[in-house]
Amino acid sequence: MLILVTNDDGIDSAGLHALEAVAASLGEVWTVAPATEQSARSHALTMHEPLRVHTHGPRRFAVTGTPADCSYLALHHLLPRKPDLVLSGINRGSNLGNDVVYSGTVAAAREAASAGVPALAASLWIRGDEPRWDTAQQVVRTVAERILRHGLPERILLNLNVPDVVPEVLKGVRIAPLGRRFYTASVEEKLDPRGRRYYWIGGDHERFEGPEDTDGPLCEDGWAVITPLQMDITAHGLLQELRTWNLEGPCSTT
Ligand code: MN
Repeated sequence: MLILVTNDDGIDSAGLHALEAVAASLGEVWTVAPATEQSARSHALTMHEPLRVHTHGPRRFAVTGTPADCSYLALHHLLPRKPDLVLSGINRGSNLGNDVVYSGTVAAAREAASAGVPALAASLWIRGDEPRWDTAQQVVRTVAERILRHGLPERILLNLNVPDVVPEVLKGVRIAPLGRRFYTASVEEKLDPRGRRYYWIGGDHERFEGPEDTDGPLCEDGWAVITPLQMDITAHGLLQELRTWNLEGPCSTT
């Protein structure tokens, strides 16, 4: 069994080490992770500047790029063959609801899924100063084993979020769709030492909205939550409506 491990928090993060330990119990581990923090980089690929790969040990590499760069380089160049599984994480923080659009953790797994490799993105919803990586490790190991046993359909990945509780307090595992998550909109304007403005964006978690049986509310309630994700984000429900707008056909401005 050959397993690629990556993340978006960077090669030195505690969650990556926790994930490498899980992967090592399942097979031969290859780690290809960003050299620096790449959270919220989504699915960006570095195509207009060089990527450097630094060796950090046997089968362990840091890439000066994004999480998607890591999966791409690993799958198409660094690994000796196509891996059986790609594990991304364990992210320092949850990736719930619309977080998955911004998440580098999810994007690294999505890049693998699009290349035909079963992939799992794993995140720990850290609440305190001593994250319970061990709880997340237990769930990741179980889910990874199931993926290896059952396989995943083409271009589908799994997104896993685990609450930051001791293993005995974890309520269990639920399968649920994405919900909606809201953050406070925050733009801080400051002046740099030379008197020029700069900005710091991104607010705090505010609330979840929508059904109680979606990923956010369930994870908040103490469940580890698995959501299957697909590449096709077409709004199928709007295709017919759009066709009534008379947009189709030869180009016309009327
Ligand atoms: Mn991250």
